[in-house]
Amino acid sequence: MAVLNSDLKSYNTFGVSAQARAIHSIHTESELIAFLEEDTLGDDLVLGQGSNVLFTDHLPYRVGLIRLKGRHFNPYSENEVLVTAAAGEPWHDFVMWTLEQGFGGLENLALIPGSVGAAPIQNIGAYGVELKDSFFSCRAFDRNTREEKIFSTEDCAFEYRNSIFKSACKNQYVIVEVTFKLSRNNHTLNLSYAPLKNWFSNKNGDSLRPIDVAEAVCNIRRSKLPDPAILGNAGSFFKNPIITADFTQSLLTKFPEAPLYPQPDGTFKIAAGWLIDQLGLKGYRQGEAAVHDKQALVLVNLGAASGNDLKDLAQHIKKSVFNVFGITLEEEVTFYP
Ligand code: FAD
Ligand code: NAP
Repeated sequence: MAVLNSDLKSYNTFGVSAQARAIHSIHTESELIAFLEEDTLGDDLVLGQGSNVLFTDHLPYRVGLIRLKGRHFNPYSENEVLVTAAAGEPWHDFVMWTLEQGFGGLENLALIPGSVGAAPIQNIGAYGVELKDSFFSCRAFDRNTREEKIFSTEDCAFEYRNSIFKSACKNQYVIVEVTFKLSRNNHTLNLSYAPLKNWFSNKNGDSLRPIDVAEAVCNIRRSKLPDPAILGNAGSFFKNPIITADFTQSLLTKFPEAPLYPQPDGTFKIAAGWLIDQLGLKGYRQGEAAVHDKQALVLVNLGAASGNDLKDLAQHIKKSVFNVFGITLEEEVTFYP
């Protein structure tokens, strides 16, 4: 288990500096167990690629970078296959590898940064597909007892950008492996989101392969989302709020063009990026922290922003959105310490 320099700047996609007590790079399950055994106060943090976190100060504990590698598959049924990957596999590489094997299911989730092990934490989602749609199980260690546990889809209590690992059992388990049930043939493609539908508008849907969808997703994402390697960011900073049908009606009287998406339970999802954009905040900056000029839901580090600069900007946005729309935005990014 390698012990690295204790500055987290290279280990979070915002690229903000923060000192940890120590940073450990964990490559095997026995290294993970040793790391957990040494965590006497139970407050150490595990990280994948640091693409969904904001460090607002120094961390008075150790950080373990999950770097476990490996992937394999086994037939499940005539049309389905079970594919397993270790938690430290980079998510996008894993998705592309499954598609190269001819397996379908993860194509809409291409180019999401991060690790396989972190993907269930917030039930990652994009273009109308969520991780839970092809999740089969995951294997994790309880941080306190070091006992192994297998979680089924039901155990994980997946919700919109949430799971048991981000709510009731936050920081309780370390995921070491995730298994997906993917299609081997008769793939069902989801082109419900307008950018994807438009991309393929001139093509015959019957001849499309999952890998074609992934390539379209990559092209669309590259055209509007900042690359964290060039401009520090953590993707969407806030979740899209879910509002009641009554509140939706009153909102529509003032803002008839509001982008609202009906949910199965009768509530509505409203695009948080639209709310921020309505306030003229696209491109707005406070020092080195800014709202991205193409996608208002993404906050960016222009170079020398601290975690607190980004947090202050987020506070300003939340207050402004609440004052105008009466809606409280909730962070999708997790703050540490
Ligand atoms: P980290 O940021 O390292 O960790 C996130 C949380 O998970 C932390 O609380 C950490 O403690 C915990 N964690 C990490 N690994 C483990 C593990 N093995 N076991 C237990 N806990 C663990 N998200 C989406 O849902 N959809 C998108 O389309 C999307 N697009 C993005 C685009 C950009 C440009 C960026 C920068 C981010 C985007 N994200 C998106 C957010 C992010 O990529 C995902 O949430 C991703 O799953 C985070 O993975 P990570 O390895 O970087 O996790
Ligand atoms: P977009 O197309 O500009 O749409 C804005 C929002 O409207 C999205 O967040 C999406 O919600 C919602 N939406 C659009 N079409 C919808 C439909 N047909 N049905 C239901 N909801 C719809 O979004 P974008 O910023 O370019 O992102 C495209 C996709 O990538 C989205 O799914 C988004 O979640 C995902 N993404 C996520 C992150 C992240 O960090 N979490 C970062 C970048 C992109 P949903 O978010 O619920 O899908």
